[in-house]
Amino acid sequence: MNRPGKRSESTLAPATRELLRSLPAATELLSAPELASIHSAVGHGELLIMIQMATDRLRQEILAGKIDLDPTTVRNACVETIQAAHRENLRRRLGPVINATGILLHTNLGRSPLAAKVLERMSQVGGYANVELDLASGRRSGRGERATELLARLTGAEAALVVNNCAAATMLALAATSTGRETIISRSQLVEIGGGFRLPDVFAASGTQLKEVGTTNRTYQHDYQRAIGETTGAILRVHRSNFSLEGFVAEPTIEGLMQLDTPEDVAIIDDVGSGCLYDLSGLGLTEPNAKESVAAGADLVLFSGDKLFGGPQAGIVVGKSRWVDTLRAHPMMRAMRVDKSTLAGIEATCEIHLSGRHREELPLYTMMYRSQDQLRERAEFLCNRLSAESPLQAKAVQRQCAIGGGTLPGFTLPSWCVSIRSQSKSTTELARALRIGAPAVQGRVQEDQLLCDMRSILDGQFEELFDALCAAECHRKTDSQGLLDASH
Ligand SMILES: *Cc1c(COP(=O)(O)O)cnc(C)c1O
Repeated sequence: MNRPGKRSESTLAPATRELLRSLPAATELLSAPELASIHSAVGHGELLIMIQMATDRLRQEILAGKIDLDPTTVRNACVETIQAAHRENLRRRLGPVINATGILLHTNLGRSPLAAKVLERMSQVGGYANVELDLASGRRSGRGERATELLARLTGAEAALVVNNCAAATMLALAATSTGRETIISRSQLVEIGGGFRLPDVFAASGTQLKEVGTTNRTYQHDYQRAIGETTGAILRVHRSNFSLEGFVAEPTIEGLMQLDTPEDVAIIDDVGSGCLYDLSGLGLTEPNAKESVAAGADLVLFSGDKLFGGPQAGIVVGKSRWVDTLRAHPMMRAMRVDKSTLAGIEATCEIHLSGRHREELPLYTMMYRSQDQLRERAEFLCNRLSAESPLQAKAVQRQCAIGGGTLPGFTLPSWCVSIRSQSKSTTELARALRIGAPAVQGRVQEDQLLCDMRSILDGQFEELFDALCAAECHRKTDSQGLLDASH
């Protein structure tokens, strides 16, 4: 703590000294009735830290002469600072956000929303569960055996494995097949994924040497063939998930790679990224299909659990038993294995895919297949209510929205939005008030309007969205500034 020393205190103006002396003692604040509910929520130790931070801040402001207080209000300012800090802590908890961005797989918003059935199954294993136990025999079983069985059936593969995410799946696949050896990859597939991570760096971290072939725009089968040698461990194909190459381009398909003359011990790995299992051409979308890759004979096919597969975060590996077993036995597997709730979630998501009810039950597909009429109706209904019951100006507009989350680059779906203007706030202020509201809403700011896209709003959230919009318009600016402004 930053207490002024005796010598400096003696040089302070008397008024400042008096203000400093009026700062309440920690023991007094700990038992302050206004802080009793915070005390019982966070406990003694946490409240003490909040008290120290608040009094330190006020002390510094007093010393800097930045504060307009008299000794009788210092205590209240302290209490209010602590209350504001508590509200800010609650707001920063991980919690639900209404996604009005129109981006269905929004990485910042947790990618794929989960089906109700999936969530239920995940919560059912919160206590103890048969993660590694065969209940019939009472013996230890493989971890999450049922989930891997279903994944194999769903994709037509011999075997499957679940790890933390697709980046982990590629690391594990390369570590198990190509450590100390070369991995052949096309120059057109050296992708940077989100968060500044470059797949080539992820690959290198697994101990393989990348051997780049072809050029940025064109790579041929014979480029791969020429590169194959004694030191080759794997041939890796990576889907360009977040950008597209157009024009004078060429690249072998996975079928083309399967025709290469490769030694037995070289694995052909296909990182398809999004794990799409369907033909989405009816929506005007094209994305590599994990089943097709398996059918073409790839040794290992890798994809994310939380992109177009529509499940919880996971990395899914499917392919030939021989190779999947090698990955399962690799020491790195132990560092990448998932917990019981992820396994239950993947299992339940597989069951939905297998039942053919993904469009009804997986929110991602329900939203993708919402019709223009349905979206327009929702936009108009919300507009009418806002116009009738709030001071907000709203109109329904047609816009395009994206799937996002490192899938389908360049593709959009037509959608309907409610374009909103506030009477009392700028668009940026309105967007902020919505984000810090409860529930939080993330909209899209475009052309100085706040757009709420109807496609990415989950069923059952429309009422909440209406309430959140009304509350944001009434929201006072000073409420939202947190710790800094609370003392003023
Ligand atoms: C998204 C993606 C990854 C990373 O997947 P995570 O599950 O986020 O780790 C890797 N490769 C490709 C081709 C992808 O599209």
